[in-house]
Amino acid sequence: MHIEDTIAAISTPPGHGGIGIVRLSGGNAIKIADGVFRSPKKKKLKNTPSHRMLFGHIVNPPDKEIIDEVLVSVMKGPDTYTKEDIVEINCHGGAIPLRRILELLLKGGARLAEPGEFTQRAFMNGRIDLAQAEAVLDVVNALTVQSQKTAVKQLSGGLSKKIISIREKIIDLTAFVEAYIDFPEEDIEPLSLKDMKKKASNIQGSLKKLIESAEYGLILRDGLKTAIIGRPNVGKSSLLNALLEEDRAIVTEIPGTTRDIIEDYLNIRGLPVKIMDTAGIRTVRDIAEKEGVRRSLKSMKEADLVILVLDGSDPLHDTDKELIEKSNSRNTILAINKTDLKQKIKLKNQDNPTVKISAKKGTGLNKLKDKIAEAALCGHASYGSDIVTNTRHLDALGRALSSIESFAAGVIKKTPPEFLSIELREALDAIGEILGITTPDDILNRIFSSFCIGK
Ligand code: GDP
Repeated sequence: MHIEDTIAAISTPPGHGGIGIVRLSGGNAIKIADGVFRSPKKKKLKNTPSHRMLFGHIVNPPDKEIIDEVLVSVMKGPDTYTKEDIVEINCHGGAIPLRRILELLLKGGARLAEPGEFTQRAFMNGRIDLAQAEAVLDVVNALTVQSQKTAVKQLSGGLSKKIISIREKIIDLTAFVEAYIDFPEEDIEPLSLKDMKKKASNIQGSLKKLIESAEYGLILRDGLKTAIIGRPNVGKSSLLNALLEEDRAIVTEIPGTTRDIIEDYLNIRGLPVKIMDTAGIRTVRDIAEKEGVRRSLKSMKEADLVILVLDGSDPLHDTDKELIEKSNSRNTILAINKTDLKQKIKLKNQDNPTVKISAKKGTGLNKLKDKIAEAALCGHASYGSDIVTNTRHLDALGRALSSIESFAAGVIKKTPPEFLSIELREALDAIGEILGITTPDDILNRIFSSFCIGK
């Protein structure tokens, strides 16, 4: 990445839309745009005050062909997304005008931006830290309002503030320990030892709290992987349809090799719930019970949450018993379906939360949703606003915690300060990775390459 280049990209999604935006960022953004922009009153973008819009046309300079009628915004650094000069050309939202305008800008000296390069510049130029940059993508990709709210809080620096405060506490402790390295003849005083233990335990507490929040946070960001299982004809497909009718969130298409897999997301109490193998649930009819159980057991293994559907109008089959036995009480909800019919099912007391429903009549679904939300909260009543939603952050926090734990153990064992200081430095590096202070280049590249071009 050459930060001195001026970059350009189409920032709106492909396809037809009311408007489309081509964006430029860098030292020559205004000059390059002025080269292809004509205003009816002969105004120049370079003479326009910052954060104003001008009406005009984009023209192909050699023959003055009008490419499109546009509104152009001029935003002069440093008060911009990237801290550089930015020009945004709002044109008509079709692939041809957008592409032709982009081509003119590239001909005029801009370079095509790499994926995420605008946000990467915001990070490199110090406007946001790495956790905030990652939150940009989470806002774009949010699956529910709740996930989006959490991402916006991270974008405005909520989580970063917490991380920075933990980092400062570790720096403080490091300075304290390293003071002893400078005076090797002095042993660490007992009073100081007590103080260090206290400080370490305080840091451990903060780290643990954040790590714990990730259990829920990762679900908020990526969805609760849920399997609806049971033997054939118990009503899995009917339940799926009933839930989708009420709570369908977003359908994402993942291009596959042979056919596109469609993943259905439900929005349950603000949580994105990803139903696994929806195609399988819908299309599998009249398969042998044994095969149904085999498939159920397979999805059970991969799921965060299992909804095991039983037919209440039928006594338990051996296959039902097998599924109940193999289910894990921590993440399985038993849904006794067809409660609108005469009930013949007999369930022994067992640990799994149980809900009575009728997929056909739509009864009991609210209770089921409550149980799903409860399962996602993992036994907590709720979480505060600073939630870790990113596995990269979780991994770094885990490493920081283990270094602080080693430090605390070292303090008890009276390990020399030189070694104690190494543990603290490692914790600092790990925490710094979250903010982008100590993040290796290959990880930075990986993060920004997952953005779309133009963001
Ligand atoms: P699957 O094989 O587990 O996906 O089961 P289906 O959803 O295809 O349902 C099997 C049969 O049970 C269908 O004829 C449904 O109409 C019926 N069924 C599903 N849920 C209910 C329910 O709550 N009450 C009644 N009476 N019938 C249901």
